[in-house]
Amino acid sequence: MMLSETNKLDTVTDGKRRWMYPLIRKGKLCQYRSWLSYVYLILFFTAPYLRISGQPVVLLNFIERRFVILGQVFWAQDIFMFVLAMLASVVCIVLFTIAFGRVFCGWICPQTIFMEMVFRKIEVWIEGNPKQRRTLDEGPWTNEKIVKKTAKHVSFIVLSFIIANTFLAYIIGSESLLTIITEPVNLHWSGFASIWIFTGAFYFIYSQVREIVCTVICPYGRLQGVLTDKHTLVVAYNYLRGEPRGKLKRQSEQPKGDCVDCGLCVDVCPTGIDIRKGTQLECVNCTACIDACNQVMDKINKPLNLIGFYSEDMIEQKAKPSFTGRMAAYSSVMLLLLGALTFFIFQRSDVDITVMRSAGLLYQEQPGGYISNIYSADLVNKTNTAQSVTLVPNDNAIKIKYIQPLNKLDKEQSEHTTFFILIPASRIHTTKTEIELKVMQGNKELGTASTTFIGPLK
Ligand code: SF4
Ligand code: SF4
Repeated sequence: MMLSETNKLDTVTDGKRRWMYPLIRKGKLCQYRSWLSYVYLILFFTAPYLRISGQPVVLLNFIERRFVILGQVFWAQDIFMFVLAMLASVVCIVLFTIAFGRVFCGWICPQTIFMEMVFRKIEVWIEGNPKQRRTLDEGPWTNEKIVKKTAKHVSFIVLSFIIANTFLAYIIGSESLLTIITEPVNLHWSGFASIWIFTGAFYFIYSQVREIVCTVICPYGRLQGVLTDKHTLVVAYNYLRGEPRGKLKRQSEQPKGDCVDCGLCVDVCPTGIDIRKGTQLECVNCTACIDACNQVMDKINKPLNLIGFYSEDMIEQKAKPSFTGRMAAYSSVMLLLLGALTFFIFQRSDVDITVMRSAGLLYQEQPGGYISNIYSADLVNKTNTAQSVTLVPNDNAIKIKYIQPLNKLDKEQSEHTTFFILIPASRIHTTKTEIELKVMQGNKELGTASTTFIGPLK
């Protein structure tokens, strides 16, 4: 396949968008990417519907500030853990970028996986190889073109609709999604509109915007220049080995490099760049050019990996891949964040309690030599089972008298209560006494809270 048939590189000078017609060449890395994408797609489409102990595997309900990860429910009170997890993910991506460049984009990012492994495959299946697609696009509106374009765009809309529904299931939960789907539209206008807005957005991205998301829009792509350095492993062309490039000729007087200038590495590139010009922001490290070039090297009996995973140092200095101080620093930060996150997850109580002494009221004298303060408490049951709880002070001499009784805590619900705390006057030695309250279910402690008790001046 010649360069002119697929990703035309040097022919566009009018400033218009160059539409990509990447060639699909199967190779070892492409095979690995395909397997990874199958796992990813299965997980993506099933995770919001699978349950662990009655909870979805993943739910990211930003509207109600309720998050579920692997069946564990996190509430607004746990938001700092969510923030920690987000920070750890960001540091992890930064670390990965410092070490391996933009490999996340080519191998894990949903944009690339859906574009290259789903939508592109449908397009190839309906419209054919790059040359056939280009001819179809540039040709007149014949019956064949109308049928093929309709089939492609209807398939894209259906797929975008399925993705939009799954995406929404991650945010509102599969039960709420089912309610929107099965009940009359007029009961769920906002949900119904969301499905179609997301469908439209996905359809627009995968049918029109495509690789521009990676090359222009995505801020992560823009960060590459800052994050990568001469030690970063990226998809790179070994120019010392490849140059001077030139077509293979039987009798050539000039000594040639290994690149036979076949253009296949450009033909397969989904972002349409020529990796032989050096590392570029547009490269999403999809490794398609490595596979393509290896097939050429194999045919002409040259060593593989003329294009491969190299750092600048590896090509120029023939150095080995190294673990730099920068990588060590980011690894330490990531381990710290993960350590803190693990600690907080294991420390997490089943019931969250906030106790407030009634504002503006001091103490009251009660019969029997007791002094009392009034409190209100909010309890949140973070588990998915109902809990019958009582509040127990840290000192047996302290009593609790409920004004508003504490009822059973339903699963994932909150409960409000008001009560007196009574302390024998003889036990009060300062105006402010620290009190700890435990939330108990039988002998099991579900949570704790601290508050202060105001007593008379001694
Ligand atoms: S595929 Fe390999 S041999 Fe062909 S042009 Fe690209 S780098 Fe050169
Ligand atoms: S240059 Fe190679 S690795 Fe980079 S986007 Fe193009 S084909 Fe993928």
